Amino acid sequence: MDSKQFKAAATSAIDEIVNYYDTIENRPVLSSVEPGYLKRILPDGPPQDGEPWADIQKDIETKIMPGLTHWQSPNFMAFFPASSTFPGMLGELYSAAFTAPAFNWICSPAVTELETVVLDWLAKLFNLPECYLSTTHGGGVIQGSASEAVVTVMVAARDKYLRETTAHLSGLELENALAHKRSTMVALGSEAAHSSTQKAAQIAGVRYRSVPVSKENNFSMTGADLEKVLEQCKAQGLEPFFLTATLGSTSTCAVDDFGSMVPTLAKHAPLNQPGEIWVHVDAAYAGAALICPEFQHLTTSFEHFHSFNTNMHKWLLTNFDASCLYVKKRKDLIDALSILPSYLRNEFSESGLVTDYRDWQIPLGRRFRSLKIWFVLRTYGVNGLQAHIRKHVHLGEIFAGLIKTRGDLFEIVTGPTFALTVFNIVPKVANKAEQDRLTKEVYELVNKRGEIYITSSVVSGVYVIRVVSANPLAEEKNVRRAFEILVETAEELRDGKLS
Ligand code: PLP
Repeated sequence: MDSKQFKAAATSAIDEIVNYYDTIENRPVLSSVEPGYLKRILPDGPPQDGEPWADIQKDIETKIMPGLTHWQSPNFMAFFPASSTFPGMLGELYSAAFTAPAFNWICSPAVTELETVVLDWLAKLFNLPECYLSTTHGGGVIQGSASEAVVTVMVAARDKYLRETTAHLSGLELENALAHKRSTMVALGSEAAHSSTQKAAQIAGVRYRSVPVSKENNFSMTGADLEKVLEQCKAQGLEPFFLTATLGSTSTCAVDDFGSMVPTLAKHAPLNQPGEIWVHVDAAYAGAALICPEFQHLTTSFEHFHSFNTNMHKWLLTNFDASCLYVKKRKDLIDALSILPSYLRNEFSESGLVTDYRDWQIPLGRRFRSLKIWFVLRTYGVNGLQAHIRKHVHLGEIFAGLIKTRGDLFEIVTGPTFALTVFNIVPKVANKAEQDRLTKEVYELVNKRGEIYITSSVVSGVYVIRVVSANPLAEEKNVRRAFEILVETAEELRDGKLS
C-alpha cells in the first residue's frame, strides 16, 4: 500500500468508523455467534497474492462485526466501561505512525518526555500528594493494565523488603535468610480486591492472604479487618510485605477505609523503616472520579502509601490501553527492574539526566501511549472531564432512584457508587436461595434478550446484578430503558408469567 492508496483506504475506514459510532445504538450490544464461527468462514491460510483494501474492508462488516460485543454502545452496562473517543483514536493513529519501541529516552525523547509531563498533569488533577510527582522522588509511568501495574509494584516491593530486612547480613547467612523470607512473605488484599493482586502474588512467587470484609462496612476494608489478618500472619510466622487497598472494588465500587488502615500498618512496622508494608492503591476504575474536587478527600492518606494506579481507559475517555501507575519512590522500581546489558548503554542514560522507562516496567519496548492522553486532556479540558464524570454519577443516581421505586421487585445491595448500582431481586416469600435463583435468572434472561448487557457478581455469598451507567455514550434514556427491561423481566419471572 503506497501513501496515495493509504489516504484513500484511511478515508474510507474513517467514514466507516464514524458511521459505526453514529449507529452503534441500533446494533444488538452482545454478539450472538457460536464458538468457532470465524474459523468456519475464513480461508485456511492467507491469500497468495495481496488483496485490494476494498475487499479487506468489506469483511469488517460481514465477518468481524457479527462477532463483536459493542463495548461502546450506550446499552453496554456490564463490567466497567472501556472508553473510546475520537481524540483517543487519533492518538492511537499517530502512535502507530511513529511506531518506535521507545524503551530509552534516546529512542525517541518526545515519547519519554510527553509521558512524564502528562502523568505529572494527571497526578495534580487526581490530587495525589506531591511525593508522587516526577519533580520529587516519585513519578508516573503508563502500563498496559492495572494487572500489569500491580505485578510490577509487587516485584519492586518484594525486592525492597528482602533488601532492607537482610541488609545487616552477608555470605551464607544472607543466602539462608533470603531463602527463608521468600518462603514466608505474603501479599494481602481485601476479599473485595480484584483478582489481579492474587495473580501478581502467584507470578512474584509469594503467598497470598485475603482480608475478610463485611456488608456492615459496605465491603470496605478497615484497619480492624486488616489488623486481624496481620496478627494471624504473625502467629503463623508469615511476613506481610504488600497490601492492595482498593478505591472502587470491582463488584460494588467499595472504597477501603484508608484512614483507619494507616495506624494499623504503622503499628505493624513503622513507615519508611525496614519491614514496612508496601501499600498499593488500586483505583483502576473509580480513580477517574478523583479529578472532581468532591471526591478528592479520598486521597488524604495517600502520602502514607507507596503506589497508586488508575486506568484512563476505563472511565476517562482514553482508548485502551492507558493504565497510569504512580510510585512514591521511583528508585524502588528501578532497583528491582533495571538491567543494563552493553547494547542498552548510552551517554544520555549514563548522564543520569533522563528517564529510561524500560526500568519502570516489565517489558523492554513500549508504545507512545501518552499522545492519546494528551489529546484527550486537551480536547475535553479539565472542565469537560469533570462534566463527563459528574454526568455518569448523576445517571447512576437516576437509575438507583428508579430501582428504589420498585421496592416490591428490587433490593439495593450497594450504591449508586461511582455510577455503579448493585441490587438483587425480592422474592415473593423471603428465602435467600430463591432470591439468588431469581436474581441469576433475571440477569441471564436480560442478557439473552440482548437489548442491554449487564454483569452479575457474588458479594458476601449473595448473588447480585451490577449496572454501570458510565459508558461514554450513555444518556438518561438508556438507563430508563434498562430499568424498564429489568422490571419487565423480573415481573415475568417472579410472577411465573413465562411459559
Ligand atoms: N482492579 C480493579 C478494581 C478492577 O475493577 C479491574 C478490572 O475491572 C482490574 C483491577 C484489572 O484491570 P486490568 O484489566 O486493567 O488489568
